[in-house]
Amino acid sequence: MTMTGPTTDGYRAVPPDWEDELRSWLEESWDPELTVGEWWERLGMSGWAAPLLPADAYGRGMNRADAMVAARIIRDHGALGAPVGMGIGMVAPTIITHGTQEQIDRFLPEIVTGRKWWCQLFSEPGAGSDLAGLGTRAERDGDQWIVNGQKVWTSGGHWADLGMLIARTDPNAPKHQGITWFACNMHQPGVDVRTLREMTGGAMFCEVFFSDAVVDDTDRVGDANNGWQVANTTLFHERSGMGAGGERGRPGTMARPGTIAGDLAKRAGDFVKPRRKARRALDDAPDLASPANIYVELARATGLDKDAVVRQALAQSHVLGEVQRLNTQRHKAVRAQGGDIPGLPNFSKLLTAQILRHHRDLGLQLLGPRGMLHGYDPEQRETLEEVPGGMVAHLLTAQAIQAQALPIFGGTDQIQRNIIGERVLGLPKEPGDMSRLPWNELPRNG
Ligand SMILES: Cc1cc2nc3c(=O)[nH]c(=O)nc-3n(C[C@H](O)[C@H](O)[C@H](O)COP(=O)(O)OP(=O)(O)OC[C@H]3O[C@@H](n4cnc5c(N)ncnc54)[C@H](O)[C@@H]3O)c2cc1C
Repeated sequence: MTMTGPTTDGYRAVPPDWEDELRSWLEESWDPELTVGEWWERLGMSGWAAPLLPADAYGRGMNRADAMVAARIIRDHGALGAPVGMGIGMVAPTIITHGTQEQIDRFLPEIVTGRKWWCQLFSEPGAGSDLAGLGTRAERDGDQWIVNGQKVWTSGGHWADLGMLIARTDPNAPKHQGITWFACNMHQPGVDVRTLREMTGGAMFCEVFFSDAVVDDTDRVGDANNGWQVANTTLFHERSGMGAGGERGRPGTMARPGTIAGDLAKRAGDFVKPRRKARRALDDAPDLASPANIYVELARATGLDKDAVVRQALAQSHVLGEVQRLNTQRHKAVRAQGGDIPGLPNFSKLLTAQILRHHRDLGLQLLGPRGMLHGYDPEQRETLEEVPGGMVAHLLTAQAIQAQALPIFGGTDQIQRNIIGERVLGLPKEPGDMSRLPWNELPRNG
């Protein structure tokens, strides 16, 4: 494989052979008349849907930079991108690391072809930051496990065919040692999924109740009571995906995998044709690739570019963005040489959260009273896009409402600081460590 760095448009000055191979494959294989399901079947089984996965596990064994170039080539060809979601990013690497070959061959084809949608059944009402304290029970009954308990914050649970379930299998062991990781079938009477309405107007999260739900022992990934290690692999891949960028949300990747969403039977070509109105609105918007630009343009448009406080906030936006960009480059360079910078992913997530909050406040300051209006459904959005500020104002109010999410998921800001303090700076651990007490002897509220 030719090793040359990407040019500014993301492609190589001297393209490696696999780029030609992918382009010819797309020439032969892409057909907008296929259904989404048929197209993803071709893309997934060819290894191009998940090129980061090993070649013997339905991928191509590529590095992250190459995988991103491959995704861009698919998009630029005008083809529908790979299925998005937790399947490829989190479930597949977890099963590859801890599962059996039989499990790889049973679960991965359904993931890379988008046939099944997965959700993450980790958090509970009493176990979020302290995930190892979880109380959902799975009790062995012959070749099966019987599950009882409750999960919450389950993103996309209402579309899911399968869930990554972690449950307590030995309550007498210390909390990290009595957990097991299962692939749980969501389509069964003992699983009750209820959506939760959010401040964004959407209902993306669910609470999931288990009442004597059944999981076969063949769907246990890793050893019984060793689920904390398995879950950490899942969480590692969740966190690495957060800073990975990629093609999420682009017109070529909007079809939803799984049997419930209903997109598999639709025409693949319809998902790559950008809607005319959205295209026009985006063309009118400032260059969103550079986050600070949108605010500078808006400050000019509203005359607030003369305001000293706004000018400082604009400069800070640029500085924070540059620090983030340079840190990412530094980390990539160190990793390319086989090294690592301890704590940098935690630091990077904290900084991203800070940038989001800064942009929320700056955006609302620039919008003034207009910032109090947000289009929660397509009809409201269309009306608001017609008034001054249009699409840009909508993007900023959407961002302001959603800015609370990142500082919470994947480990809150406080938890990131704890990790940096303890593991990077060598500060003493939090007082009251109960990690050696049996789980069922831990103090509980009520
Ligand atoms: C957008 C989004 C998507 C999510 N998707 C999923 C999903 O699909 N599946 C899933 O399982 N979960 C999901 N979550 C849940 C997420 O992982 C938890 O919300 C998160 O781990 C925090 O847990 P909690 O909400 O129970 O808060 P808690 O742990 O109860 O924390 C409450 C507050 O106390 C602070 N705190 C807690 N412990 C400490 C400590 N030791 N030191 C200092 N401060 C502390 C926290 O920082 C926080 O401010 C999602 C969350 C969000 C926001």
